[in-house]
Formats: sequence, C-alpha cells, structure tokens
Amino acid sequence: MSVIVRFAPSPTGPLHLGGARTALFNYLFAQRTAGRFILRIEDTDRERSKPEFEKNIIESLKWLDLSYDEFFRQSERIEIYKQPLQKLVAGDLAYQREGETAIRLRNPGRSVTFTDLIRGEVTFNTSELGDFVIAKSLTEPLYHLAVVVDDWEMGVTHIIRGEDHISNTPRQILIQAALGATRPAYAHIPLILAPDRSKLSKRHGAVSALEYRERGYLPEALNNYLALLGWNPDTDQEIFSLAELGRLFSLDKVQKSGAVFDLEKLNWFNREYLKNSPLDLIPEKGRKFWPVLKDRVTTLSEIPELLETEFNYFFRRPTYDKILLRNQKHFSKLRALIESIPANDFQADRLKAAIMPYADSAGRGEVLWPFRAALTGREKSADPFLVAAILGQAETLARLDYAASLA
Ligand code: GLU
Repeated sequence: MSVIVRFAPSPTGPLHLGGARTALFNYLFAQRTAGRFILRIEDTDRERSKPEFEKNIIESLKWLDLSYDEFFRQSERIEIYKQPLQKLVAGDLAYQREGETAIRLRNPGRSVTFTDLIRGEVTFNTSELGDFVIAKSLTEPLYHLAVVVDDWEMGVTHIIRGEDHISNTPRQILIQAALGATRPAYAHIPLILAPDRSKLSKRHGAVSALEYRERGYLPEALNNYLALLGWNPDTDQEIFSLAELGRLFSLDKVQKSGAVFDLEKLNWFNREYLKNSPLDLIPEKGRKFWPVLKDRVTTLSEIPELLETEFNYFFRRPTYDKILLRNQKHFSKLRALIESIPANDFQADRLKAAIMPYADSAGRGEVLWPFRAALTGREKSADPFLVAAILGQAETLARLDYAASLA
C-alpha cells in the first residue's frame, strides 16, 4: 500500500506556524515513505474562505520548499459530494427533517474507537452528538462530509493533522462507516504552545509563516526548528536539511504532549543557517560586510540596523575616546606590515599571516587591541583583520595615521 497524505487547510487566515508544521510533517512522512503529498484547500465555508489566504498558504509552502504532488480545491468539487450524499439519503442513513433542507446523518450513537499513531487508542462516545448535520442541502456539503468524501476519493491513507481535530474524528468515522469508506490511519500531532503553555497566538508575537520570512528568517531554519518541535530524532544532531529530515522522519517519534515554542531556539537555528548561507542570499547592501556581520546577525532583517549602529565605522571615520589611543608604539611596524601586502590582494588571511607573527612576539593584546581601536573607534569590535580587509588598504593606513595624529 503506498502512502497518500494530505495537508488540508481552510483558507480563513494566513498559514500559521502550527499549520506549517502540520504541512511539514505530512511532507516528511510522504518523503520517508516514497508516498504522495496532496494540498487540498478546504473552502466549503464560502463566507470565511478568502482567495488571499489561499494565496498566502500556497506562497508559504513554496517558501518553505514543501512541494506537493497534487492540488485540489473543495469548492470545485461540489459535484463529487452530491452522489455519496444522495446515496446516504436513499439508504436512509441520512435524512431531512420535516421543514428542514439540512441533511443529517442517522447517528447510531455507538462508541467509536480508533488507534491514533501518536496517541494510541482513543474512544469517543458519539451518542450526545445526535443526528448531526452533514450538508446544508444536497448541493451544499458541510465540512465533515467533504473531508470524508475527499479523503476516501483521493485514497488518503494517513491523516496527519493538529490535535485540535481529534474531536472531529468520531464524526468523520461515523460518516465513513455510513458511506462504506475505508478508514485511514490517524495521527494527531500535539499543538504548538506559547511559553506559558497556552495555545500559541498573535499575542505571543509573529505566528504566520510569511511574517518570519519578512523578519529575515531562512526557510531552512524554520523547517529545521519546526521539525524538532514535537518530533525527536533520537540523536544529538540538531541541524538537518529538509532532505535529511525526509529520510529520518517517523510518526512514532512524535511526542504526545504540547510542544512549547521557543523563539530563542529558532533564532539559534537561524544564526546557524545564516553563517553557512551562500552570499547571494544576503541582501546586496550587506554582502561586503558579511565576514563581520555573520557572527552578529540573527535574522537578515537586522542587517540595515546593524550597519547603522554597531558597524557604522565602515562608513565614517571613528571619533576616538582618549583611552582608545593610549598605546600606539607598534603603529609604525603595523604600517610597514600592512604596506607589504599588495593592494589587490588585501585579504583578511593575508593580513593575518603578515601581522600575527609580529603580534605573537610583541604581545597580541599590545599590537592587536590598539590596531582594532584605531580602525573602529570601539573598545570591542570584530576581528581587526576582517575589518581591515573590508576597509581596504588605503583606508586602513589612513585610520592608523589619523589615530596616531590624535594621540
Ligand atoms: N480544514 C481543516 C483546518 O484547516 C483541516 C482538516 C483536516 O486536516 O482534516 O483546520
């Protein structure tokens, strides 16, 4: 039996982190099992569904690189729901009450048990649900009916979705039974919680996937973080590419309890991915400064501000506190070493090779600290070789001279 999974968002809002993780788990499960991954837009609720949210969902999945094999939109499948509905009515498994157009399922009121791949055996008593409505009319299926017909018709083998849907499952199983549909396997994944263990929501900060894009997070970092939010790879390894996750992911290592969202951890992932990202990913304005920026940046959107604050010495000569100018006895030697490097090969490693032997013999702090202070006007700053390479030979020399002239 080959695996078919689906991610079935309702386009009633932008794709949130929880939805993104559900999509990711479905995608990874399909990868792992060489199965198929369907995106199904559940827009039967015409009032709440909006095209811009569908667009947002599709764009989010594209950004996260979660590609799907098939795409459906429930609003285009109304005809498909008609026949099973008619069959239920014809078989007296569903009916219309007098004076009502709505169609209700005849609920046998039995208890429903299913085995959830994450939560184990789950039992619900369905008698209090009564004869619940499954369609507003023959041409207006409601959510539960559409889900069941679609999952059946599309051959969905595993329903991987948020735990908030677990209480929908008994209704859907009753509809399946009435239709004679096969029952897929269920895996309800734990919710993402805020640090105070309440449900993660807007008041805890950014929740939509594309907001993270706007804030300068990398999709690889978000995927990696979300994969580990509730899933345990059973190793100490933390950095996983999407392809690697697709080889390792398994539902039995998904935890039962809610997973607490930790922005600091996401930031850590983002820094790790940023450090190793190709230069063309960095906004053009930041590229030249990337060697020093890369250790200071958490998200790409911080680059302009960092350049204006911490790294503003790249754009103007520093003003110096007296204390920064106190020790310049090695400047003439530094000058000579710097001048020995050809201007067209003024690289950090060349500088380091030229200066370090001298710094090691004369005392690193004695040589490098004043050098750095002269370049940046700051007590603490990036590696002076990286800074000098970015400034270029002429400016590096000019700053040494300028600092010397002030002392
Ligand atoms: N359309 C539902 C939602 O967006 C999901 C349905 C399902 O996964 O079964 O919450």
